[in-house]
Amino acid sequence: MRDRIQEALKRSKADYTEIRIEEKETTRVVFRGKDLEVANANIDKGGIVRSLIKNKGWGVVSFNNLDDLFTKVDQAYQCAQVGSAPEPIELASVEPVEKITTVEMKRDFRDIPLAEKKALAERYNQVVLSHSRKIVDTQAVYSDIFTHLILANSEGTYIEQEKPSVVVGTTAIARDGENVQQAHDSLATTQGYEYVLDKDELARKTAQKAVELLDAQSIKAGQYTVVADQMLAGVFIHEAFGHLSEADFVYENPKAREMMTMGRRFGKGLLNVYDDGSIPNLRGTTLYDDEGTPARRNWLIQDGELVGRLHSRQTAAKMGEKASGNARAINYRFAPIVRMTNTAIDNGATSFEVMIKDIELGVYACEAYGGQTQLENFSFSSGYAYMIRDGKIAEMVKDVILAGNLFATLENIDAIGNDFKWLNTGGGCGKGNQFPLPVGMGAPHIRIQNVVIGGE
Ligand SMILES: [Zn+2]
Repeated sequence: MRDRIQEALKRSKADYTEIRIEEKETTRVVFRGKDLEVANANIDKGGIVRSLIKNKGWGVVSFNNLDDLFTKVDQAYQCAQVGSAPEPIELASVEPVEKITTVEMKRDFRDIPLAEKKALAERYNQVVLSHSRKIVDTQAVYSDIFTHLILANSEGTYIEQEKPSVVVGTTAIARDGENVQQAHDSLATTQGYEYVLDKDELARKTAQKAVELLDAQSIKAGQYTVVADQMLAGVFIHEAFGHLSEADFVYENPKAREMMTMGRRFGKGLLNVYDDGSIPNLRGTTLYDDEGTPARRNWLIQDGELVGRLHSRQTAAKMGEKASGNARAINYRFAPIVRMTNTAIDNGATSFEVMIKDIELGVYACEAYGGQTQLENFSFSSGYAYMIRDGKIAEMVKDVILAGNLFATLENIDAIGNDFKWLNTGGGCGKGNQFPLPVGMGAPHIRIQNVVIGGE
């Protein structure tokens, strides 16, 4: 295969050509209620050629049949020929690399029979179902993906990477008359099957949260001091800030360019934020991105100052910066675009106890049920929350929707916890039809003043 790829690259008449070949083995088991909904195994194999003619544009061809690479390379060249780039397209330089990486799993999930995976999902489903008579519906998911990726380009790069991914997740829906509440948990890893065994406690917690939410009162709308747990803080920094750091968006959007000027200051100098695809065993880890740029730690905010952003080779060249290792594609059907890897708020100095002890009336908001962002404005629903009264965690509340302006909110962060945690949750990030891309998020607890919370 390697010879054929390199031969095909040599034949290309384009200024730059890249071939990516991907093989994905997937199994997936889903239980809903008492029933098995899905149990399947699937292999998906294909490739993509990207050719660049600097004065014209990109030509992209994806395919399933790997036999005729030479024709695909010619086709990509022809597609690039019909382009009419308004300005020449340059790529930031990246040192060519030859590297073959393999992973070793303690228990390789490809060796586990589907029946055993089904039994695992069924067990977690049963834990949720049997937790309470108030649990009226459930979902339990087991899924694994083993990806083998080859990336080669006309500059001499040849990289083979193996990427395992295994996820278990549980959803519980609890009901009391008209009152219906739900909770969800998941656990994802790039390690082996052993990592998702014995997670009954995860399933039990999901069920417990859904049942407890039945008794929670809706929060009274208003402005509160909010302490966000690691998951909510991680989702916040990914959704509200991380996407604005993606240079394709910044470049194309004049408003975003103005907002994300290097050197801009946020808040009290406490905040440090980075994206890092090089940390082992995290969900967004990718040692080389889909253009062959090695992953590294890219600081986005340091001591409260905007210091960096995320790039592909093309956006880096456009903005006169360095490629950052953030060109990622969800599979061989897509060209890479600028994406996050593992995005985090760095650890701070304040303990959780100190963070809440002076709050007379506030909210401890935990987990996140998605949300929306519109440039600098966001709104997120927390999964569940507690009131903070006189420095202590008090009753559970529901329907906590946090809304605000990103920059005002960053400004209002006045304490950063010393309890940093990576969140090994499933799900993923969506952008430009490419969903769900595995990404990692991490944060300590953070405290934010004057947060507007919707509710009753
Ligand atoms: Zn995202």
